[in-house]
Amino acid sequence: MNDNYQTLILGGGLSGLTVAHKLRLNHPQHKFLIIEKSDRAGGVISSNNDQGFISEKGPHGFLDNCAESKSILRETGLDKECIKAPLIDFVRYVYLNGRLNLIPQTPRKILMAPLIPWHAKLRVLADLWKAPLKGEPTVAKWAQYRFGPALLPYLDAVYTGTYAGDFNKLTIDSVMPGVRALEKEHGSVIRGLITSMKAKKKRGGSGKKLTMPAMTSFPKGMERLSEKLSESLVVGRDILFNSAATGIKRQDKEWIISTSETTYKAKNIVLCLPINACLRLLGPIAADLPEKDVPETRISTVVFGFTDDVTIPPGFGFLTPEVEKRFTLGSLFSSNMFPGRAPEGHVVFETLVGGRRHPERLELDDEKLTEEALTDVRDILGIKEKPVYSTLLRPSGSIPQLERNYPALLSWKENFVEENKGLHLCGFGWGGIGLNDMMKSATMVAEELISSRQSKQETEVKGVYF
Ligand SMILES: Cc1cc2nc3c(=O)[nH]c(=O)nc-3n(C[C@H](O)[C@H](O)[C@H](O)COP(=O)(O)OP(=O)(O)OC[C@H]3O[C@@H](n4cnc5c(N)ncnc54)[C@H](O)[C@@H]3O)c2cc1C
Repeated sequence: MNDNYQTLILGGGLSGLTVAHKLRLNHPQHKFLIIEKSDRAGGVISSNNDQGFISEKGPHGFLDNCAESKSILRETGLDKECIKAPLIDFVRYVYLNGRLNLIPQTPRKILMAPLIPWHAKLRVLADLWKAPLKGEPTVAKWAQYRFGPALLPYLDAVYTGTYAGDFNKLTIDSVMPGVRALEKEHGSVIRGLITSMKAKKKRGGSGKKLTMPAMTSFPKGMERLSEKLSESLVVGRDILFNSAATGIKRQDKEWIISTSETTYKAKNIVLCLPINACLRLLGPIAADLPEKDVPETRISTVVFGFTDDVTIPPGFGFLTPEVEKRFTLGSLFSSNMFPGRAPEGHVVFETLVGGRRHPERLELDDEKLTEEALTDVRDILGIKEKPVYSTLLRPSGSIPQLERNYPALLSWKENFVEENKGLHLCGFGWGGIGLNDMMKSATMVAEELISSRQSKQETEVKGVYF
């Protein structure tokens, strides 16, 4: 049994790397070990650099509106390397009624744009008089009730873009707990937003104009983030690869972790695992677990490179709501967003397929899937030319879907962690699914480890971006 460590971190994705980074920075004498199943650090973060085309198997970037991720960039020096695509400078599109509809950059411009008729805009105001829906409504049901049906395709696009999800299954309490709390407290989302903006102003907060965040990445792709965070980790001392945790137990106020090779004992363990991997490990020691797993979904990315005779529309890209019955979920105009994504004289975009509604499309062989995606996207963008480059990326990770009963699982987690001293949980699907969510909760866990005090994550109102 190896008992050299104060903390064992299970999983070496962004969450695990963030915990390790913070411990090393703020408490260098704290001895930790990351136990990672695969042969590399970074988890689902994985950039693809091929023939001068840079694309992403996993995340494409994160918004620069999160204090914790900004700190990490500063602490690692990555703030000097990162590249940004400000939302204010780039339009987005929703493919609806057989064409790309431009979504302006700011909420005020969106309100004025002819995306929905005036009577539908007035219907949105009915939110002021509608009592909160009881239970756990889906996002679609909740939005239709509060704001009317006209916004639904746009909202569908938002949740296709963020979760690759189905807004008829995702629930408002799970994906927008902050908005739901405002609605319940003030009897209306609009009234709640206005009240909280006024309160913020009164506290001397941001009395200034609404600012828009920027999408952040790195010149050679997102993998630079995990590369930098793992740079100082010594293999064998700080991190183990090809070593999966297979069991957890509590013994004499310590935690025992088994891997296929050996066992480890430590005062603290941090599970930085995708939510279902975490639930599987906890199953045997958590008799009252309310859910054995949460639904997950996969996507694939088809990368298409063209010579720059092909013009792609300006902006970030587009999303397609289900009502349009397209093969693809949307495309990111990568060479518009970040410089150097395609060789000189070329453009590149990345097209997403699959998601919660269409897992069967991912069963197609590579050739067929690529061909179907190309046909669909050429039709949408009116491209006649053939691509000079294409590749299909099939990520290994799945995206957790925060659907019914997820809030109950979160409350269970809170109690379980409180009852089990030295146990900490964060990672993909716990309290969000985005990179910023992961950096935020992993930072909080590192602070708990250093201070030996439990903290509680605040429910925040997040912006909605296409
Ligand atoms: C296709 C895709 C696209 C995405 N796009 C975006 C985006 O554009 N923007 C954004 O903000 N977010 C995006 N995300 C989400 C983002 O990538 C995740 O929030 C984040 O990377 C999760 O990090 P993590 O360390 O918590 O989990 P993971 O990256 O899943 O890492 C968990 C690690 O645990 C290891 N592991 C699993 N089981 C065990 C075990 N038993 N023992 C030891 N190790 C184990 C795994 O090998 C893995 O390395 C995307 C996710 C996917 C899958």
